[in-house]
Amino acid sequence: MPSTKLTSFLNSGLNELKDKGLYNVIHPLEGANGPKIQLEGKELINLSSNNYLGLATDERLKEVAKDAVTKYGVGSGAVRTINGTLQLHVELEEKLAKFKHTEAAIAYQSGFNCNMAAISAVMNKNDAILSDELNHASIIDGCRLSKAKIIRYNHSDMEDLRQKASEAVKEYEKVMVITDGVFSMDGDVAKLPEIVDIAEEFDLITYVDDAHGSGVLGEGKGTVKHFGLSDRVDMQMGTLSKAIGVVGGYVAGSQELIDWLKVQSRPFLFSTSLTPADIRASIEAIDILSESKELQERLWENTKYLQEGLKKLGFSVGDTETPITPVIIGDEQKTQQFSKRLMEEGVYAKSIVFPTVPRGTGRVRNMPTAAHTKEMLDEALSVYEKLGKELNV
Ligand SMILES: *Cc1c(COP(=O)(O)O)cnc(C)c1O
Repeated sequence: MPSTKLTSFLNSGLNELKDKGLYNVIHPLEGANGPKIQLEGKELINLSSNNYLGLATDERLKEVAKDAVTKYGVGSGAVRTINGTLQLHVELEEKLAKFKHTEAAIAYQSGFNCNMAAISAVMNKNDAILSDELNHASIIDGCRLSKAKIIRYNHSDMEDLRQKASEAVKEYEKVMVITDGVFSMDGDVAKLPEIVDIAEEFDLITYVDDAHGSGVLGEGKGTVKHFGLSDRVDMQMGTLSKAIGVVGGYVAGSQELIDWLKVQSRPFLFSTSLTPADIRASIEAIDILSESKELQERLWENTKYLQEGLKKLGFSVGDTETPITPVIIGDEQKTQQFSKRLMEEGVYAKSIVFPTVPRGTGRVRNMPTAAHTKEMLDEALSVYEKLGKELNV
């Protein structure tokens, strides 16, 4: 017999979400997640993926992934510490360390897993973590898992960070400052030079989650490299699932840090490792990024083109400094209406509203990629122009 407690909990929770208009319906794609997607029998211009460089459907990655399946099979067979470490994993980690300019790196099954793994492996209940209030959910959960005291500072407010750091170091054993490199909802970049200065002044551990910066900023090497801080950040986390186009994540840092994570971080010890195809394709992606700037240049060209086009039409894209392009609409219902109309007119761009972003700052988030053509962006802009008039935005 199903638990009546569970049933009533689920029903009341679901009904509440639906009443508030917060229940998200998922539309499955009928093909690849490329610059255009097939959805409900219709072809749409895709402005919602994190596939910044178009590598998720790149022929070179597909080929090596197929070869890896032929040679190694589809699964790695075990967790890393038993016998799920293939030579390929080691090769990937060496490439990542070189790419990030650190002594060593460790790969995990996802970026989310990295934050679950690495924060709690180095922080504990005698410690404190200074966390930007707009940090990603996986950072928040990773911090909670560590049992350290979590001290939120106002978004990119260096006065507030300094003040809270000066108090925390008196009270706690170790203190970490943790931040997104690029903030995923607004596209602004963390003030890393100032954060690192404050960290050095108070001997804080620095942790940068560069999920949206890697492959995009710093000639592809990320936000830390962008600011020339590779030797001054303790822990650099990145994903293999956004610009790299595959799945997985990694933490890069000193040899001691990585040695520690390999014996102490629980997703490494207790969850089966990345598959051969994932690793092989990720290695290929890093090789491509190391050898040529072509994809990054195209990404930035498309970013400029889309953002300038939107501004010319009178839309506000907020304070973005990266390809993440929010079109700020404000009112929650109007934002959702705008996104729905975009879809009807052939453009897939998701609305993001409270509680993901503050009330009254509803936006449609657009993600241009290297794979979009000018024609696709022009088409998207003309739909924006039409809907801007129609909905009076
Ligand atoms: C997407 C994202 C993650 C999670 O990465 P996955 O590889 O998708 O699990 C972690 N942190 C930030 C800031 C992200 O944007």
